[in-house]
Amino acid sequence: PQSQLASTLRNLDGRSYGNYKQLRGRYRFGPVTLVIDRVQVDPFASPSKIRVRIGRDDAAFPADLTTGRADRIAVSDFLLRLGNDVLARLEQRAIILGRPGQEILDRSNVVIDDAGFEARLLVNLPARGRRILGRQAADILTRDLPELARAMFLHGEWPSDTSDPLPTALRNHVQLHRDQLELRERLGEAGLLGFIGNGAILPRRSGDSDLPMDAADAVPFRSPTSLERTFTLSSGREVTGMAVPRGVTVIVGGGYHGKSTILRALERGVYPHIAGDGREWVITEPTATTIRAEDGRAVTGDDISPFITNLPSRTDTRSFTTTNASGSTSQAASLVEALEAGARTLLIDEDTSATNFMIRDDRMRALIPADREPITPFVDRVRPLFARRGVSTVLVAGGSSAFFEVADRVIALDAYVPHDVTERAHELVGISAADLDPVEGAEVADVGGGVDVGTAGLFADARERVPTAQALRPASKTKSAKAKGLGQVQFGKAVIDLGAVAQLVDPQQTSAVAEALEYLAEIFDGRSSLTEALDEIEGMLDAQGIDGLTGHRDHPGHLARPRPQEIAAALNRFRGLRLVE
Ligand code: ADP
Ligand code: MG
Repeated sequence: PQSQLASTLRNLDGRSYGNYKQLRGRYRFGPVTLVIDRVQVDPFASPSKIRVRIGRDDAAFPADLTTGRADRIAVSDFLLRLGNDVLARLEQRAIILGRPGQEILDRSNVVIDDAGFEARLLVNLPARGRRILGRQAADILTRDLPELARAMFLHGEWPSDTSDPLPTALRNHVQLHRDQLELRERLGEAGLLGFIGNGAILPRRSGDSDLPMDAADAVPFRSPTSLERTFTLSSGREVTGMAVPRGVTVIVGGGYHGKSTILRALERGVYPHIAGDGREWVITEPTATTIRAEDGRAVTGDDISPFITNLPSRTDTRSFTTTNASGSTSQAASLVEALEAGARTLLIDEDTSATNFMIRDDRMRALIPADREPITPFVDRVRPLFARRGVSTVLVAGGSSAFFEVADRVIALDAYVPHDVTERAHELVGISAADLDPVEGAEVADVGGGVDVGTAGLFADARERVPTAQALRPASKTKSAKAKGLGQVQFGKAVIDLGAVAQLVDPQQTSAVAEALEYLAEIFDGRSSLTEALDEIEGMLDAQGIDGLTGHRDHPGHLARPRPQEIAAALNRFRGLRLVE
């Protein structure tokens, strides 16, 4: 009971820090249940894990917003943002609820289940030196945490009180999320891979901020008429903007005219964004994956032979392994790994690509005989990739016309405004749209530069990679995978560098990727392939939610659901990965 916790804390004041651990347990404050799951051993250890809960009847949220799975994600996101506001108002820095960015992600911080609402907190229990500060601890545990729970979850008047702006804000938040998901479905049905709404603000405030550029400075997005589509959603909302069809789309334009900004918006469009972000109506099919060069990364047993054969070292590129990939081999590896992880769209920017992976001009083809050049550039593979594998590409290429011949669509940016210049670009290289292989799934002639990899097997079913049972084993004995910020996972003694994985957008996703590696360590048995294991994780996450990653430990910490593509990216960059021969 309440008074008991307060008096225990009064008694603990001034005693050694380790005594905090007797606080473990469950306490009631009216409708609020406080659960102290884990207590830190000293003031410098990772914070204590504490939850607050309010039952569904007390919380009295409108059931129509808190039943469906997607709606629960949106409401949790709303409550998480609200909770952070409450903590700021309470000026309580010892309590960490976790801060969301501009995306709405499936997170463990606030969960809604059939029984009620729960917030998972990390709390730094206060100390002077190594002595307990009992009074401050009582403020945190018996005053501020219950207050936080009430402010987040207790809105007895949620549905009816019209003077309270929160119910409307909540409803709008959920409806926007629903509409975004519906548009994503509709795009898929219409054979489109992405959409950018007219009026969208794509540029960000700065290179290190994900907030929108000030409206006064930004040129709002405006679709070329030829690509413009309007969708009327079941809510009645109409959205109009540029629809990007499946196939090969090339973005051109002068330097600094906004090419990379568009591509980056599409890259982030795999996640829904909150109102006011500027990218609310930038929607990309969910498997779209950014591919870039990343020299120095490790590669384990990738079949990069569609791009690279006949290496001077005679290395077999159908099962290519290196501890130190070059720009081109790393980009080839990331590409085939993306296919393996289910990508149906590739996003590629010239700024982060290896030129020799992307193109080779005619004079160079004349100078260096095909059998002396291990690389078949991407420009020769982008069409078979679509025709044989149904994988589309959106590519930024401002420096070369090489892709005109293989592009279904060419979009030119002029001072941030896109124009459809497909016809003119096709004219320049003397082709018409009819010269491009017509449909996805069609057999195409090899347009390759003469390097013999055989065309029949090109991008046919790649050999499955089967990790050994031991591959992740040393890590599974103790819990040894841990995220370090956004771009790194410590895995046993190894550090996995995820700095080049563009669609890992939230440090909580990185934490979940670390948990996923632990999970994979359990399921790799030397028989299941990497894709099967990823499917198993996806199935588990769909069925059990993000808590399933930690086996439903009482308090899972702060996690956000990553895509299978990003879990695969981490595994593929793990230097200890080993495959069954
Ligand atoms: P490119 O890839 O064509 O060289 P970027 O996409 O990197 O160009 O954009 C160049 C600069 O212009 C960046 O600082 C970016 O923030 C800014 N920018 C991009 N799009 C817009 C826009 N619609 N309105 C205003 N500024 C923009
Ligand atoms: Mg650029």
